[in-house]
Amino acid sequence: MRIVMKFGGNLMDGAERIDHSSNLVVDRVKKGDEVIVVVSAMSNVTDELIYMAECARIGEIEKVRSKIEELERRHIDTARKICSGEILNEIEQKIKSTISLLDQCLTGVFLLRELTPRSKDLIQSFGERLSAPLMRGALISKGIKAIDLTGGEAGIITDSNYGNARPLMNLTEIMVREKLLPIIKAGVVPVVTGFIAQDSNGVITTLGRGGSDYTATILAASLDADEVWLWKDVDGIMTADPKLIPNAKTIPILSYAEVMEMAYFGAKVLHPLTVTAVQDKRIPIIIKNAFNPSNPGTIIREKPDMSKKVKAIAAIKDVSIIYTGGAGMIGIPSVVARVFSTLASNNINVIMISQSSSQANISMVVSKSDLEKALKALKLEFRNGDMIKDIYAIPNVAVIAIVGEGMRGMKGIAAKTFTAVAEAGVNILMIAQGSSELNISFVVEEKDMKKAVEAVHSAFELDK
Ligand code: ASP
Ligand code: MG
Repeated sequence: MRIVMKFGGNLMDGAERIDHSSNLVVDRVKKGDEVIVVVSAMSNVTDELIYMAECARIGEIEKVRSKIEELERRHIDTARKICSGEILNEIEQKIKSTISLLDQCLTGVFLLRELTPRSKDLIQSFGERLSAPLMRGALISKGIKAIDLTGGEAGIITDSNYGNARPLMNLTEIMVREKLLPIIKAGVVPVVTGFIAQDSNGVITTLGRGGSDYTATILAASLDADEVWLWKDVDGIMTADPKLIPNAKTIPILSYAEVMEMAYFGAKVLHPLTVTAVQDKRIPIIIKNAFNPSNPGTIIREKPDMSKKVKAIAAIKDVSIIYTGGAGMIGIPSVVARVFSTLASNNINVIMISQSSSQANISMVVSKSDLEKALKALKLEFRNGDMIKDIYAIPNVAVIAIVGEGMRGMKGIAAKTFTAVAEAGVNILMIAQGSSELNISFVVEEKDMKKAVEAVHSAFELDK
């Protein structure tokens, strides 16, 4: 079997964790599988790199220097604990030269007092460039042949949209096969940095935060892998956030469409584009707990499990409703277009929309951090008041989304949902259902979020 395995930052965090993670690789290699490994940076390293870049930009070079030293120590210490023999020397040298390159990049930012999206991507790339050699060192110390590569070296080519680059899949497929197949065929395990890639000019790009999941599926699609295993420190995707609902359960099977719907609603399970790479080839993604590997985890595949109509409840906090209304909106499509193009041109993402059938108002949900900007932009755009008279916000709300392919064409799901919420004494401010019928979403005041999620979670017996 050909398996792409990805290890998140938690599973790369220090010698003990890397030792454990590398054993999971060794186990499958010894069973005769072809394994391609994708690694994240150690926990918090990406955040720290961004912090260092910011410090450099504003001239606080002392902070930068001490952070670099700390980062070097953290990686060298780990190398010394997990590598033995000749490979230790090699990995130490690699870490030192990578750190010195990072130092130069940050010094450049410090001197120029300028941090472009392109330089920010370069600086962010160092977390994975430091962690991949450690995984390689661990594997080699256990007698497994391995090599470490950056996403770009592995053949992932993206556009030049720094910070949120997208793979050019046709090109990537050819390049990844060309680079990795000979390595795999020679019985060597490629250890590829997650999250980072390069554009067609060879400049380093990143796939967006949490992008290592996406790296794994991009490689799997390119290599026609049999399965993608995303190792986490939880048993799989849960029916609800366990911090909110302690008796939330692991979901055994989810469809690609259900996962995308959940990711879209901010359930922080996977990078939102993870499934898009493997969907056409129908390669299953399996989320597994590295500390409980015999648990089957969550399987993400094409075909939904229809035994449960509702699979999961996602909740997003830190959002606000913007209400726009006025008789001038009725029957004038251009007004609606103006509302959304005003928001779009200010880079404001609209999470949810609802319009009453009288057409006299539109309510939108935006992230709380965009609220001020959105209100200002809309008030400016419609300042003469003939089209839209009222523009106001309900600042502290939460969106709750009920997701499941089994809801399609079923009567009574909405009734059951809203009855449960009403019985919990929670007031609903806004409702929307996508015409895909894959989800019903509604908005409540943030203080009522937990109560509403609890009510719906137990109404659909997701705790059973
Ligand atoms: N290290 C990157 C991040 O923290 C990518 C990842 O962890 O998947 O966003
Ligand atoms: Mg991470």
